[in-house]
Amino acid sequence: MMYLLDRDPLLLTPGPLTTSLRTKQAMLHDWGSWDAAFNRMTGELCEHIVALANAAATHVCVPLQGSGTFAVEAALGTLVPRQGKVLVPNNGAYCARILKILTYLGRQAVELTIPEDRPADPAAIEAALTADPAITHVAQVHCETGTGILNPLPDIAAAVARQGRALIVDAMSSFGAIEIDAQRMPFDALIAASGKCLEGVPGMGFVIARRQALEASAGNAHSLAMDLYDQWVYLQRTTQWRFTPPTQVVAALHQALAQHREEGGVAARHARYAANCMALRAGMQALGLRPFLDECVQAPVIVTFHAPAHPAYDFKRFYDGVRSRGFIIYPGKLTQVETFRIGCIGALTPADIEKVVHAVGATLRDMGIVSAHANPVAVTQERV
Ligand SMILES: *Cc1c(COP(=O)(O)O)cnc(C)c1O
Repeated sequence: MMYLLDRDPLLLTPGPLTTSLRTKQAMLHDWGSWDAAFNRMTGELCEHIVALANAAATHVCVPLQGSGTFAVEAALGTLVPRQGKVLVPNNGAYCARILKILTYLGRQAVELTIPEDRPADPAAIEAALTADPAITHVAQVHCETGTGILNPLPDIAAAVARQGRALIVDAMSSFGAIEIDAQRMPFDALIAASGKCLEGVPGMGFVIARRQALEASAGNAHSLAMDLYDQWVYLQRTTQWRFTPPTQVVAALHQALAQHREEGGVAARHARYAANCMALRAGMQALGLRPFLDECVQAPVIVTFHAPAHPAYDFKRFYDGVRSRGFIIYPGKLTQVETFRIGCIGALTPADIEKVVHAVGATLRDMGIVSAHANPVAVTQERV
C-alpha cells in the first residue's frame, strides 16, 4: 500500500477533517492583525455565518480563538448569569462535556438523562422546564458526535420558547450541513467551529448570539479570554479580534465558506454528506459490521459501528491496517459497548467512502476476522 502514502491520508474523523486544495492554499500567506484586508475577511466571514443561520435580523457572530470547546465554554460563561440554572439533555459525550463546563463555571445544572441511542425528547424537556421554574437556560447538543445521533432541534427550540427560557445550542458538528434557521428555531446562542462541516481547518470557534442577549451579558463572564461580550464590543469598535487572531485559520475558513456557497450551500452539503453516510452504512453492513444507531436517528455526520465480536479484533491493529491503506478513522466514545467511528464529513465523496470500505474489508481479512469467502454475518454479534 506504499503507493498511497505519497499523499496525506484521508481523514474520516469529524474534525480535523480532509480539506480541499483551495482551502489549504488559502493559508500560504502572512497577514497582519491590524491590516484592513485581514479585518475585512473577518467581517465577511461573520456576515456569511450569520446569513447561513438566517439570523442577520436578530443575531451577531462572535468569533473566538481556540477549538470548539473554547467557544462552548465562552458562550455558557458569558450568556448564563452567575445565578442562572441550565437544563442539559444528556445523550452523549458532548452533552456530558457541557455539564462538566458548567461545574467548572460554578453554574447550576440539571441533567436530563437519555439513553445514548435515543434522541432528546422535546416533551420531556418541556416537562422538566414546567417542573422547575428556576431553570433559565437549556443547553442542547444538536448532533451528538459521540454517537452520531441527531437531536430534534426545531421541536426542542419550540418547547423551550413556549416555556419562555433561553436556548444555547452546540451545533458544532451540524452547522453548515443541517438546516438551522434562527427565525423558525429560536435560540439565544448557537456554537460551531471552523474545522467541521464548513470544511475549514481547526483553530477558531464562533457563536451566533442573539444581539439582545449578548448586550445583557456584560459582566457575566468569569474569564477575560472567554468573555464573548468583551470580544464582540472590541470587534465592533475596532473591526479587529481582541488578542492575536489565528490568521491562517481565518483565511482558510473564508475560502472554505466561498466553496460552501459554490457547492450550493447547506442543502447541497447535506446531500453530499447524506450520500457519504448511505454509502458508508451500506458498505460496512455488507462486510457484516453493524451500525450502533437506527438509520432514522442517524445524522449524516459520523457513524458509530459495533466492533466485530471476534477474538482477533483489536482497535489499534484495525486502526493501523486502515491507516496503512491511507485512511484515518476514530475510536468509539461509548462506555457500555465496544465501537469505532467513521466520519462522513470533509472534502469527501461517496467514491472516497467506497475506498474506505474496501480498506476496512482488506484490513479485517488481514486480521483473520473476515476470510475472503466467509459468511460476514459471523462478525455482526455485539461485543459487550
Ligand atoms: C467537535 C465538537 C465539539 C468541540 O470539540 P473540540 O475538540 O474542542 O473542537 C463540541 N461539541 C460537538 C458536538 C463537537 O462535535
